[in-house]
Amino acid sequence: MMPLSSQDYPSTWGEFLDWFSSDEACAAYLERLRWPSGFACPGCGSMTPPYRASRIRLMCKDCRHQSTVTAGTIFDKTRTPLRVWLAAAWYVTNQKQGVSALGLQRVLGLGSYQTAWTMLHRFRRAMVRPHRDRLKGLVEVDEAYLAITDREQPISAVGRKNNTSKVLIALAVEILQPKGFGRIRLRRIANDSAECVLPFVQACIEPGSIVRTDGSAAYRSLRELGYDHERNVMLGSDTPAHVSMAGVHRVAALLKRWILGTHHGSVQPEHLDAYLDEFVFRFNRRSSASRGMLFYRLLQQAVVTDPATYADITQSAA
Ligand SMILES: [Zn+2]
Repeated sequence: MMPLSSQDYPSTWGEFLDWFSSDEACAAYLERLRWPSGFACPGCGSMTPPYRASRIRLMCKDCRHQSTVTAGTIFDKTRTPLRVWLAAAWYVTNQKQGVSALGLQRVLGLGSYQTAWTMLHRFRRAMVRPHRDRLKGLVEVDEAYLAITDREQPISAVGRKNNTSKVLIALAVEILQPKGFGRIRLRRIANDSAECVLPFVQACIEPGSIVRTDGSAAYRSLRELGYDHERNVMLGSDTPAHVSMAGVHRVAALLKRWILGTHHGSVQPEHLDAYLDEFVFRFNRRSSASRGMLFYRLLQQAVVTDPATYADITQSAA
């Protein structure tokens, strides 16, 4: 069943304010998303309606297991009110190009940059569906360099050095007939060897698909891996690369513009994968008729995504 505007998600900001006027209302909404067919005890699986110590705290009537609506979700153990979280989700999904941590801090009036950054990072984690389908049909695959600057905050702090580095990205883009692009996948890779590009193809593209690449030798064994390989050899060809590989060139250009525009080119290299996930989430839902639907999809994934603390994120990256 497709979620409905004004029934499953608010259709306007005015409606949003009506629906989410208190933390209790936000918790009730998240509870409905988390358990669409009613509460199920995380301890024993019982579906008996729980005791409620508060709107957030629940206790199983059968095994006495205590839990909360937000335990094990990206909202777990947060000191930020749920109203602020949901407003952030609304803002993040209503801005077509997304938002930087500094932008989110300003618009929500958050006390610290770190809070805004952590919220955005948790949302990015929720943007990847764990068992998403692989691309299929005709798929273009290529690599592109991305210039990113390692800067904590996009402000001109005196004495702070900006280290710009180039990172290599693998891109896969579904090509639709007669024209247009379907879904995409992106991944940072160490280099353009077969050892790096082939696992990307296998993870992202359904065997049996037609994979279109340039003449690079790295893709030579695609046929042995079960793909139909269309090799576009540029040398001596009259057709320029942006015409013969239009999909990957277009997506690479949009990605570069997004990093430079929304994020001012400032992405810590160790967190680049999360930014790529956000770009893919936005691109693959670019034709979504309603922004409210994106809000719904993001929250739906947020209640089944494990939390990660600021310390987790920064430590795992170190
Ligand atoms: Zn139980």
